[in-house]
Amino acid sequence: MADLDSAAARVRVAPEHEVLIVGAGPTGLMLAGELALAGVDVAIVERRTAQDLMGSRAGGLHARTLEILDQRGIADRFLEQGKAMQVAAFAGVSLDISDFPTRRNYGLALWQRHIERILAEWVDELSIPVYRGLDVTGFHQNPAGVTVALSGGPSIHARYLVGCDGGRSRVRKAAGIAFPGWDATVSHLIAEVELAEEPEWGVRNGATGLHGLSRLDDGDLVRVLVTEPQVGRTDQPTLPDLSAALVAEYGTDYGLRKAVWLSRFTDAARQAESYREGRVLLAGDAAHVHYPAGGQGLNLGVQDAVNLGWKLAQVVKGISPESLLDTYGAERRPVAARALQHTLANVALRRPDDRSKAAREVIADLLQLEEPRKRYAAMMSGLDIRYELGAGHPLLGRRMPDLDVMTAEGPQRVSTLLHGAKPLMLDFGETGGFDAGPWADRVQFVAARHDGAWELPVIGPVTAPAAVLIRPDGYVAWAGDASEPGLVAALTAWFGPPAAA
Ligand SMILES: Cc1cc2nc3c(=O)[nH]c(=O)nc-3n(C[C@H](O)[C@H](O)[C@H](O)COP(=O)(O)OP(=O)(O)OC[C@H]3O[C@@H](n4cnc5c(N)ncnc54)[C@H](O)[C@@H]3O)c2cc1C
Repeated sequence: MADLDSAAARVRVAPEHEVLIVGAGPTGLMLAGELALAGVDVAIVERRTAQDLMGSRAGGLHARTLEILDQRGIADRFLEQGKAMQVAAFAGVSLDISDFPTRRNYGLALWQRHIERILAEWVDELSIPVYRGLDVTGFHQNPAGVTVALSGGPSIHARYLVGCDGGRSRVRKAAGIAFPGWDATVSHLIAEVELAEEPEWGVRNGATGLHGLSRLDDGDLVRVLVTEPQVGRTDQPTLPDLSAALVAEYGTDYGLRKAVWLSRFTDAARQAESYREGRVLLAGDAAHVHYPAGGQGLNLGVQDAVNLGWKLAQVVKGISPESLLDTYGAERRPVAARALQHTLANVALRRPDDRSKAAREVIADLLQLEEPRKRYAAMMSGLDIRYELGAGHPLLGRRMPDLDVMTAEGPQRVSTLLHGAKPLMLDFGETGGFDAGPWADRVQFVAARHDGAWELPVIGPVTAPAAVLIRPDGYVAWAGDASEPGLVAALTAWFGPPAAA
């Protein structure tokens, strides 16, 4: 704590921001970028003194996250540094998405430390202050805003506070938001170590559970994952703990001599009962934690951020009423709840006993069939998300395909038109009669032509709509004919009432 106190004294903190984010992990960084693009005065408070992340947590990005990064023009930064590959999997079965109708019909293998570094560079380009080496200790909120207390330093006042501060979120606890779920049934140690001897490489689903040793690309270090003999320990794991777990499964610790990183994770699965309490919101691991099978956590957090960012920006700017924020929890809670369910199933299917093994083989068999493979691949890659926006065109509430369209400015990708995180209406029907004027300050109206087919993952071909209204997060808010009365209602519901003439 002494270190943090002296850091607080050194960091110059502005007394006020429109939005304050706690945590510069993937979720907080993405949210800050979204808010800054929308012109909001946002800052991040981060406990870590530098972005460097010890150890290897998340190992990559799924296809929907890549699409989202494309919508901001930054996907290439990640693709240049990672390895495009099929990363979607369920119950240990790899799920190929190369036949899916998306520009990025793959995922990306890239360690979290690189993902965070690239996001932090983007945040830096957007001139967002990141107050590092400071710990948020609590807050008080009233109808006008939130006063956020920092360890050993001045407080910061913000109109809204977002806790992107990870699974042990202090913001969540201080807000009194319950975090119900399932206690751990399995506990793992994960480490980056030096070994004196050549180990048995690869994954072993042995008598004591799941284990694995792999070589890290950057040097002589070995990444170790072992199942602990007991569940429930919460102290900092030690080298002797790791050695004992290796010996229990492999009969040797392979001359374990040093760990540069050693951590513990479990299959505890929990979700915040609410994602909002007044002016305080939660996103990412602060709102949901689960076993990492399927590689969902970081991807969920980044997508939470992109759902929340534009809504919070509109509320801060007085464009939309505060009730727009309720759609954030209504849309994102079911997505994380589904991920929790599937990780519970994944854990059960990974158990080493014969019955679980038999269940695993049955599921693996089913996933060879075309329809189940497509459905689970779309789910794990995030391409099947549908927010409940009522009945209508199949595009409603689903991701807008990144089509190549012809506009007055020449050929464009839909994703390029979303780089500024501004709502977009594409009119394919030459219905120039619609008066866009009352929303022209907030929504881009683009006359476009698309000659190819419209196809959605799993669903297949869909009828081409005459016009489509796309939210900044890339989900379709309305689809139909621009002369239909529903368009005015959708524009008003999502992007505020018409401006007075
Ligand atoms: C072994 C393992 C493997 C994983 N593999 C994958 C994978 O393959 N794919 C995937 O998508 N996900 C994976 N995950 C999950 C992923 O790592 C997390 O979901 C992700 O880091 C969540 O991001 P976040 O920004 O919400 O939270 P975090 O990354 O936890 O960031 C929270 C930030 O808040 C800061 N902070 C916390 N409290 C305070 C405070 N009081 N004041 C100031 N700052 C504070 C922290 O220092 C931290 O920087 C894995 C996790 C583990 C453990």
